[in-house]
Amino acid sequence: MYDIIIVGAGPAGMTAAIYARRAAKTVLVLEAVTFGGQILNTPDIENYPVEAHISGFEFSNKVYEQAKGLGAEFVFEKAVEIVDEGGIKTVVTPKNRYQAKAVILATGSENRKLGLEGEDRLVGRGVSYCATCDGNFYRNKTVAVVGGGNTALEDALYLSDLAQKVYLIHRRDSFRGDDTNAARLKEKANVEIIYNANVTGLIAEKRLKAIEVTDKLDGSTRQIELNGLFIAVGRVPENQNFASLVQLDDAGYAASGEDCHTRTPGLFVAGDNRAKALRQLVTATADGAMAATEAVKYVNEAH
Ligand code: NAP
Repeated sequence: MYDIIIVGAGPAGMTAAIYARRAAKTVLVLEAVTFGGQILNTPDIENYPVEAHISGFEFSNKVYEQAKGLGAEFVFEKAVEIVDEGGIKTVVTPKNRYQAKAVILATGSENRKLGLEGEDRLVGRGVSYCATCDGNFYRNKTVAVVGGGNTALEDALYLSDLAQKVYLIHRRDSFRGDDTNAARLKEKANVEIIYNANVTGLIAEKRLKAIEVTDKLDGSTRQIELNGLFIAVGRVPENQNFASLVQLDDAGYAASGEDCHTRTPGLFVAGDNRAKALRQLVTATADGAMAATEAVKYVNEAH
């Protein structure tokens, strides 16, 4: 049995592992895919203290090495259920059952889809949710980004240095993302911003070859020929598997105060799957520190 199991190896989960190991607790980190989480999609982090520029990939590697170096154990299995028996919690994966005195849910979020016909089938054939992963395939080609948050703005900026032409399609007339990003984009000669419009269709043979765009104001539609569509319309928190133990808000985020407690004693939540006002790298790592500190306190008091 471990003292603390952390579900999710993004910045929140890995920071929690660092804090829990520095408090001399045994720590297992369970991760479904690979360590790093959403920050892996960020090519250049400019708003995290100490480094003026660092890629999400390099940041993740450094935090992973730090947590491993302190003795956190990492296992790459997806947690599908938590069974709460009070003092002992069992985290179930398709392969194993792991037990701990406390559990931190740092599961983050997954890409929101547009829900268009062919969207799933065309992933890797012109449809992508990750500009830094797939942007290189679109050098000197035509692409579109859909969304109006920081991810969409940063994706469009990143792609504007690679692609010949970038359309940015947003459903409103003002962006949700930062003004700095928006201002940089407006200076890019190869970026065309289409406001008040939705992507309403994917036109493809084997690969995507055009999109249908519908103007929200007058209902007119047009087709834009392109090679790639980058969908950046937000994220959906990954709390569904644990809904019986955690109170979720209407959008599916885990309700918790700044102390990262959930309604189940010994179960804590940290990072982008927690209901909070600001989802940034710095608040994810802050959550990790807080959740681990509270989990350590719980383990010390309860056992
Ligand atoms: P977000 O802020 O939730 O923005 C999602 C965008 O997609 C919104 O503009 C939204 O439009 C649009 N959208 C949602 N559903 C849509 C649909 N079905 N069709 C068309 N458009 C749709 O998500 P995000 O950009 O992924 O960012 C997530 C969080 O990470 C944010 O807090 C963001 O600030 C943060 N982040 C920070 C950085 C950074 O600081 N460098 C970088 C990336 C992300 P509406 O605006 O009309 O709702």
